Amino acid sequence: MPRKLAAGNWKMNGLAAALAELDTIAAGSGAEDGPEVAICPPFTLVAAAAQRAKGGLLVGGQDCHAERAGAHTGDVSAAMLADAGARLVILGHSERRQDHGETDADVAAKTRAAWDAGLRVILCVGETLADREAGRALEVVRAQLAGSVLDGASDETLVVAYEPVWAIGTGRVAEPPQIAEMHDALRAALVDRFGKATAGAIPLLYGGSVKAANAAEIFGIENVDGALVGGASLSAGDFLPIVEALG
Ligand code: PEP
Repeated sequence: MPRKLAAGNWKMNGLAAALAELDTIAAGSGAEDGPEVAICPPFTLVAAAAQRAKGGLLVGGQDCHAERAGAHTGDVSAAMLADAGARLVILGHSERRQDHGETDADVAAKTRAAWDAGLRVILCVGETLADREAGRALEVVRAQLAGSVLDGASDETLVVAYEPVWAIGTGRVAEPPQIAEMHDALRAALVDRFGKATAGAIPLLYGGSVKAANAAEIFGIENVDGALVGGASLSAGDFLPIVEALG
């Protein structure tokens, strides 16, 4: 069984004062037999968050460059994230794919850089509404997985987050059968590639408008090992009930 994980993606939200939320999140989570809990703040807060995070609370980045260093104005490398205290990095988020034209090949190259820096990757995959309405959701997501996961992945280096683009920040959650079908397909694809033991330990997260009111139902679905949470991770009051539902 994979270790469960609740990961918060703060996106481009949060000034220094927001770090106070971490104290409450850390105080309300971190039981030894409970889920892992991570917060991925914007780059500007990663170092301060990592210094402040207590009780096993993990800190991650939201992206990294594929190269270790160099002439890439405005970018941040995986080595820099690790140096700032990050343990994880989100890669391939649909907002990066849409806003910055990131391809599966880009995500694969960033994954290599993240692994070289010792970071665990939360790899995001997910179809658009047009893909789903055209009946190609499974095909699109399988292709993203095949194109962006590198050989040698394990539960120590990889978490996969299924995030239907149409459910992110929209308040519209995928139906349980849609989530179940996709998570089963993701698990099967990982088993084909890495074998049952390795694939069975890689956490599969659902992401897309997860909140306290729907978390328990989502976590009851087979092959859902946690959540990647956007809006509801910005305040401890919204995020902790999700962590509790994960148990
Ligand atoms: C996300 O950004 O990864 C996400 C799932 O956002 P939200 O929970 O706000 O839909």
